[in-house]
Amino acid sequence: MTQVRAAPQGDRPFPDPSGLAALRREFEGELVIPSDASYDEHRRIWNGSIDRYPALIARCAGVADVTAAVGFARDTGLIVAVRGGGHSFPGLSVCDGGIVIDLGPMRNIDVDVAQRRVSAGAGIRLGDLDAATQPFGLAVPAGIVTHTGLAGLTLGGGIGWLMRKYGLTIDQLLSVDVVTADGSFVRASETENTDLFWGVRGGGGNFGIVTRFEFRLNPVGPMVLAGPIFWPMEQSARVLRFYREWIADAPDDLTTIVVHRKAPPLPYVPPELHGRPVVAVTVCWAGSIEEGEKFVRPMRRFGRPVLDLCQPKPFVEHQQMFDPSLPSGWWYYFRSCDVEALTDEVIDITAQHSVEMKSAINTFPIFQLGGAVARIGDDETVFNGRRAGHTFNINATTATADGFDQERAWSRGLWEALRPYHTSVYVNFLMEEGEDRIRQAYGPAKYDRLKALKRKYDPHNFFRQNQNISPD
Ligand SMILES: Cc1cc2nc3c(=O)[nH]c(=O)nc-3n(C[C@H](O)[C@H](O)[C@H](O)COP(=O)(O)OP(=O)(O)OC[C@H]3O[C@@H](n4cnc5c(N)ncnc54)[C@H](O)[C@@H]3O)c2cc1C
Repeated sequence: MTQVRAAPQGDRPFPDPSGLAALRREFEGELVIPSDASYDEHRRIWNGSIDRYPALIARCAGVADVTAAVGFARDTGLIVAVRGGGHSFPGLSVCDGGIVIDLGPMRNIDVDVAQRRVSAGAGIRLGDLDAATQPFGLAVPAGIVTHTGLAGLTLGGGIGWLMRKYGLTIDQLLSVDVVTADGSFVRASETENTDLFWGVRGGGGNFGIVTRFEFRLNPVGPMVLAGPIFWPMEQSARVLRFYREWIADAPDDLTTIVVHRKAPPLPYVPPELHGRPVVAVTVCWAGSIEEGEKFVRPMRRFGRPVLDLCQPKPFVEHQQMFDPSLPSGWWYYFRSCDVEALTDEVIDITAQHSVEMKSAINTFPIFQLGGAVARIGDDETVFNGRRAGHTFNINATTATADGFDQERAWSRGLWEALRPYHTSVYVNFLMEEGEDRIRQAYGPAKYDRLKALKRKYDPHNFFRQNQNISPD
């Protein structure tokens, strides 16, 4: 018999047992309570440092389940967490003692090749989307790890390998279906509920539960020129200075991410490099391979790279590259900021702090923005970092609690040192950092507009387990 660990809330009966019995009669998906064998599996999220015990996990099979779960949660008054892929850095998709509305089972994808559109359920992961669209040489620009949830990523903006060519994930969003706090089902697009459509393009889950996303598809690959080029980390300042010049006039086909880390013990990394601190310029060239080779040449010829893995490969293969470096269950903490440019000061601070990273499994990426991201008007969507040059995602990772505090201190130290250069911050890269940081993520004008929208769609702050925009 499966032994179920007693949870802090799990010992107590569900606060509204008769209501739960009624919900069971209409619910098509799975209702998981602490005494169920699958409870631990479903309450766990990507970040292993988060350990919360909801009273109920409502694993929705479709829109009717979402509506029923919202109504039930409203009746009980319990706090609600909404879960797409469960990859929220601070664990906002699970709560203690409340109800998790889990969209994980809603993984339907419908590709319309002729119209170049895709409709995706709220439970799908980025890899599912690429798997469905890349056979047609099409893609939606999204993130850089395939097991990330599409829902949460899209609702915050969505940065990734194709952003300089096709913009953020939200820049290709055509419509959403939403269940609001009062249980209404509404569609939002450029022509229907346009205020809500603005709000979901960066405003997170504040306005309701998105059950379906519809995106425009764009030609990509299927082959791209992609992969990391590595130098010893002690050369970081020189590499970053050269990199800065190299990307200055880069075409939109190029998106890069600079990663500081210790070389991982992966099959394609020679054993003598394993554990050595490195800086990697990681390339994704989504245009003609020949032109890409020409453009990348000066960077790969700079100094003496210790390893060059940048080569033609299927886009889906490139998309999986970081998967083993960011698995579920490790302990993660982040500090993030945008900077306008890689000035000498920013480069020197980055280089000095990176060599002090202790953990062997930290992956610290700096995303290159610009291109198509910057060509969309600031007010067109909620996302606020379009004018930034780079996004820093200062990751502290350990396998367990061991060494976590030390690594967090390292992350905070680098972030603090960069403070004079912070411009904005990407909302999906925030931990639970308080209202001022959420305001900083959106800027004061958009934040006020978001508050007004919140008053319209969720005046009682039913959806508050998120990067919350309070109606008050
Ligand atoms: C390994 C990893 C790699 C990442 N890489 C990138 C990247 O390349 N680019 C990038 O932009 N971001 C990236 N992120 C950040 C990512 O965008 C956020 O963590 C995002 O929230 C993940 O979405 P999710 O559905 O998995 O999250 P969840 O934890 O399920 O949800 C996150 C938040 O969104 C809300 N939410 C989720 N689904 C819905 C819904 N259907 N309706 C309403 N609200 C909802 C939740 O309530 C919660 O507040 C990465 C994160 C991880 C862990």
